[in-house]
Amino acid sequence: MTTTHSSHRPLTAGTSIPVLDHQRRQRRLEHLLQLRAQLAALAAERRAHDLDDAAETFGQQIAVEAAISGEFREVYLAELGNWATRDAELDHESARLSPECGICQVVAAQMGVNLTPPEAA
Ligand SMILES: [Zn+2]
Repeated sequence: MTTTHSSHRPLTAGTSIPVLDHQRRQRRLEHLLQLRAQLAALAAERRAHDLDDAAETFGQQIAVEAAISGEFREVYLAELGNWATRDAELDHESARLSPECGICQVVAAQMGVNLTPPEAA
């Protein structure tokens, strides 16, 4: 007989994690934060351009945030404000090309538009 719960949990690391030493915990935290940043950027792109997998990508972002909240509560609380600020920066309307958006970069390249901000040159 099979259980039906938790059939779709791509980003959790299991429920009985052994006690990790400090270095391993630190590496895991850095990995989770990096993953969260990548997923947030992807989710913002997909939302901005109204793509079908926007909700799915956002769900993965939320799952990573939940993992950070569960394992690194203080970091989670400290980062929440930064994440909100960063996510707002990444959000854009599809009609306004954003230099930080991968989809906009492709569109700009096809149109021959230079998206690089002056200060980055
Ligand atoms: Zn875009």
